[in-house]
Amino acid sequence: MQMQSRSQVRLLPDAWVVKIGGQSVIDRGRKALYPLLDELVANIKAGRKLVIGTGAGTRARHIYSLAVDLGLPTGVLSTLGAGVASQNARILEWLLSSHGIPLLSPAGLSSELTFQLAERGAVVFPGMPPYAFWEHYPDMGLIPPNRTDTGCFLLAETLGVRGMIYVKDEDGLFTDDPKKNPRARFIPKITVNELLAMNLPDFVVEQQVLRFMTMAVHVRRIQIVNGLKKGNLTKALNGEDVGTVIYA
Ligand code: ADP
Ligand code: MG
Repeated sequence: MQMQSRSQVRLLPDAWVVKIGGQSVIDRGRKALYPLLDELVANIKAGRKLVIGTGAGTRARHIYSLAVDLGLPTGVLSTLGAGVASQNARILEWLLSSHGIPLLSPAGLSSELTFQLAERGAVVFPGMPPYAFWEHYPDMGLIPPNRTDTGCFLLAETLGVRGMIYVKDEDGLFTDDPKKNPRARFIPKITVNELLAMNLPDFVVEQQVLRFMTMAVHVRRIQIVNGLKKGNLTKALNGEDVGTVIYA
């Protein structure tokens, strides 16, 4: 079946989903997060509609490794990871509280999103998709395959937003993890299929995002930007090809 042939309404064609990395941004604390929040607020004040998702990061990696050691199943790990993404969403909610930007849970997203976005210009949500006990099994091991990158992507596709931006701590996608391999080369633009064929040893977004991208109707392009460099997110919101663009 040709996925593109399905007719689906774009619910929020003017909004963006922006994912703030857990390990890559939030866990770095004030130095990384404060300037980025300033940039988010400036864009909201400029009239952009932002649906801001949170990653989980180091606390999730900790709880996953403990839970795996204890032999807990993937569905339980999914609920534990969701707890950490919620913590991070709470943190952003409080840091943005003077701007009146609310935190919406998955249930809140379905009941309040349009109103809050129209009224406040932005909302924060925990990036983890709420599969909980119903999370699918991974091909290997016990870690939930659908984590916060995937949760943000699926929401972006459902809402039919203008774009999906991942804010991380590297300039985008490289041929290998630039933290481990200094010879890794930067890839400014690439198709999902080219990327899947490259079979990279490590990756900057969850593999599931690529799988879902090949089936997506609205979000045929994702952008990965370095949130540690001031102005990058704004450039992406202005439609500039900063960072890496992966397209289907
Ligand atoms: P998040 O904080 O959003 O969960 P992650 O830490 O899971 O982000 O993923 C981003 C990290 O992925 C980067 O900090 C980088 O070190 C790593 N990474 C692994 N492989 C690559 C790659 N091929 N290109 C770029 N970054 C990569
Ligand atoms: Mg991650």
